[in-house]
Amino acid sequence: MLRVERSPFFDGKAAFAYVDDDGATEVLTVLKPMFDQFGAKFTMAIVTDWIGTSGFLTKEQLASLYAEGHDVISHTKSHSNLSLIDEQEIDYQLSKSKEFLNIWGYPAEHLAYPHGSNSATEQAIKIVKKYYKSAMYGRNNRNIKPMHSYRIKRIDIAWSTHTLEDYKALVDEAIENKELFVLLGHISALSPERVQMLEDVIQYIYSLGFKVERYHDAYEKHSNSLEIGDHSTANPLSSIAIGADGKVSMSGAELTDKRIITAGASEFTNTNVISDFKKDAITINVVKGAQAGGLPTGRGGTLFTYNLSDDPIFAYQEYKPFEGNILYRRRWTATNVWSAWENPNPYVQAEANLYLNASPVQDFELGKITVNVVKGAFAEGFPNNKGGVLTTYRLDIDPVFSYQEYKCVGNSTMYRRYWNSNGYWSVWSPAV
Ligand SMILES: [Zn+2]
Repeated sequence: MLRVERSPFFDGKAAFAYVDDDGATEVLTVLKPMFDQFGAKFTMAIVTDWIGTSGFLTKEQLASLYAEGHDVISHTKSHSNLSLIDEQEIDYQLSKSKEFLNIWGYPAEHLAYPHGSNSATEQAIKIVKKYYKSAMYGRNNRNIKPMHSYRIKRIDIAWSTHTLEDYKALVDEAIENKELFVLLGHISALSPERVQMLEDVIQYIYSLGFKVERYHDAYEKHSNSLEIGDHSTANPLSSIAIGADGKVSMSGAELTDKRIITAGASEFTNTNVISDFKKDAITINVVKGAQAGGLPTGRGGTLFTYNLSDDPIFAYQEYKPFEGNILYRRRWTATNVWSAWENPNPYVQAEANLYLNASPVQDFELGKITVNVVKGAFAEGFPNNKGGVLTTYRLDIDPVFSYQEYKCVGNSTMYRRYWNSNGYWSVWSPAV
């Protein structure tokens, strides 16, 4: 009998790592002094062809950083986009970089995809598995167990619009869920504000009694106990995986016939492409506020992904922010990107008397035309103080574009007023 409970390496706690891509000289001048203050360790994703060229670390600098306990992983030989080259070239990029790193004395058991998730194609992953224990890209998603070992997610610090509070919320979430949390940086591309933010995030992690360790060490604690079949891709044919915490995941037609998948919170966000989702299924997941960037209203909500055909052009998504009842929609296009999010119905019919003459513009749903009846007893302040139908246009975040129309019972005159820049409604006047 094979008995698997939880991984003997998993200590039941979150683990934190920082992986810096490309090996720029700022690793030495900016990153090292910052990390030394905390005794923190970083991980360098190295493009072997770039070592010793202008702007990049030399072999000697890399060796001295490694001797101080920082880690080295592969970022391929020449930073090729693995989705644009054939199998033979992919193999060359992956095997040669590992070979050089091994010769220089680094185990280099992990890979950071160049060009992020673009490189993480199913074809590439098949070859990555020959040489590496795990591979990572930058997506602001969680590493839910059992982890997708060849799609390890990193939280970007360079090009993200996240605030320090957002990062703190993500750190808190990783601790609460006992997950692997990997920060992604390109230290040479970070503005001084972002460099400070990185330091503040690390400070925050240490203030909570956690540390930032080498990726390899953090990964080993959280890596799956067991993987049979192809669990790493979004459309696994057939697989069983057991996470470090003992959680089991099964997928594939032979094992389960699930057509509706409820995924973990923020497992899928605005950045996921259609190939990340299981085919012939509807995937539903909640997105937490900190990971909701790019989604309609930018607030947390529920994401529905319909991926029901071999032809992805039929795929679409719906998103319902947690506030209000608007369901937004977008579709997968022939150019292999999502269309813009759309609000399919701009009208809201509100209950009678819900909005009255004194209701400020902020009470109305943004992006909507709200219609409600006003009964006579509630009509004070409206034209003729008579009951009628109120229509409110609040179509832009800037309230000066907002206006209202009112039509009293018993006649056809339409009245209008607008929200003025002083922050109140103008007087009602007959529409001409
Ligand atoms: Zn890179």
